[in-house]
Amino acid sequence: MRIVREAADLERWHGGVFVPTMGALHGGHAALIRRAGDLADGAPLVVSIFVNPTQFNEPSDFDRYPRSFEEDVLLCECEGADIVFAPTTEAVYPPGATAAPPELPEVATRPGLEDAHRPGHFAGVCQVCVRLFGLVRPRCVVMGEKDWQQLAVLKALIAREGTGVNIVGHPTVREADGLAMSSRNRLLSDRARVAAGSLVRALVEAGRHRDSRRAEDAGRRILDDAGVETEYLVVRDAQTLGPAREGSPARVLVAARAERVRLIDNAPWPGFTLPA
Ligand code: AMP
Repeated sequence: MRIVREAADLERWHGGVFVPTMGALHGGHAALIRRAGDLADGAPLVVSIFVNPTQFNEPSDFDRYPRSFEEDVLLCECEGADIVFAPTTEAVYPPGATAAPPELPEVATRPGLEDAHRPGHFAGVCQVCVRLFGLVRPRCVVMGEKDWQQLAVLKALIAREGTGVNIVGHPTVREADGLAMSSRNRLLSDRARVAAGSLVRALVEAGRHRDSRRAEDAGRRILDDAGVETEYLVVRDAQTLGPAREGSPARVLVAARAERVRLIDNAPWPGFTLPA
């Protein structure tokens, strides 16, 4: 496995499968890399590690974001990556290059979920993905369902650009109590870690109700009881993230803060259960 810092050194590795990450890697990222290995079928498997400054709407969140480069490199090697692309900010955003950020698809601006609670976030996500995809030139990109709206945004963006890149979503990997694995979990105090377990319990509880209003109320009650600060817990159409529609797959999505740590999760609705 090689560590590449310059875009020019990536040219030999175009046309493979790509897993973009911000590092502080965990079992969720490992699963994505293994999936990418299955899909690569001998083509290059590239993992990027880049904490993208333009997608953080709070500068303190960027400063606090966990970083563990050496462990990350080991994990990538163990999971079979060929290349870790760890660019400098200048390599991703060359000084003087003023390409306009891509126009955002509706799913990045209308739902009132991550778009409303993290203004500017998807502009940064789309900007970095367009830049990274342009440097890595993959034929396939593996992304996590954990960031459901982000996955929907990238699918819509890539479909519109017509570049033929295949975006593959991978199911959320969870801790033993069901908490979705996340780099931010490292920032949780012991108390906040216990409270954080309420997010997945809220998704399960919401899944017990077939009426979406009841489902949302029941899920929010679980969060309130656990003392986390709910930003949203809503049932939505799985693809557009607009109102759920009869006969179309739906999803329940949650964002909440446990102490200062902001966490998100989502699940199919109704009927979500955890493996025993
Ligand atoms: P991040 O490093 O948080 O930007 O995440 C990089 C990729 O890993 C994104 O596509 C995420 O959706 C995905 N990811 C993060 N956590 C998980 C998880 N628990 N299960 C599956 N994929 C995940």
